[in-house]
Amino acid sequence: MKKVLIVEDEKTISDIIKINLLKEGYEIITAYDGREALEIFEKADPDLILLDVMLPHVDGFQVCRKIRTKSNVPIIMVTAKEEEVDKVLGLELGADDYITKPFGMRELIARVKANIRRVEFDSIVENSNIDEKLIKSGNLIIDLMRYEVRKNGEIIELTKREFELLTFLASKDTQVFTREQLLKDVWGYEYFGDIRTVDVTIRRMREKIEDDPSNAKFIMTKRGVGYYFRRI
Ligand code: CA
Repeated sequence: MKKVLIVEDEKTISDIIKINLLKEGYEIITAYDGREALEIFEKADPDLILLDVMLPHVDGFQVCRKIRTKSNVPIIMVTAKEEEVDKVLGLELGADDYITKPFGMRELIARVKANIRRVEFDSIVENSNIDEKLIKSGNLIIDLMRYEVRKNGEIIELTKREFELLTFLASKDTQVFTREQLLKDVWGYEYFGDIRTVDVTIRRMREKIEDDPSNAKFIMTKRGVGYYFRRI
């Protein structure tokens, strides 16, 4: 059973989310403030965290940052206002996704499911015509068996989503994908989701992978269309 940690200080909202996710077969743990969230995270080792931004004691931004220093667990930030969305997108928090209040339960469940499963990752690997499960480009190596990316021999820390996006693009060498296609194929969103999520994830990956993020040589932009990976 997959375990979801709900971090939400408004009890009624927390309860509604809990009831709905229980119905979907998830195990639920709850925290009602940021400090408690960090404590529970250590003990419970959840498979996904739904993290409200505005929380007592320690806010969601800080909680996200702290968790990211030790774990790549999928994190969905729950925002209440457009300014918070901008902040989530702009800050290098390492959140995988965000959802804005008020949200429908169908949407929330779709997001949780999409973020929790390994996003057809096995099929990406299987369908790639890469024999040895290593993708090489210049000084960059993507190791599909070990879920590792190395540059000049050093391991680069990527979140699960970043790794999947990179692998997806790299395994379809030079094929250009629109943001909508990437949301569908990598995030698993059919109807929901904001294409800005793709741009933010690409930007974050470039900062980790590229020598000069503003002049990328691996993760390329096709102006007006989308993104592709380049083998060097
Ligand atoms: Ca709140």
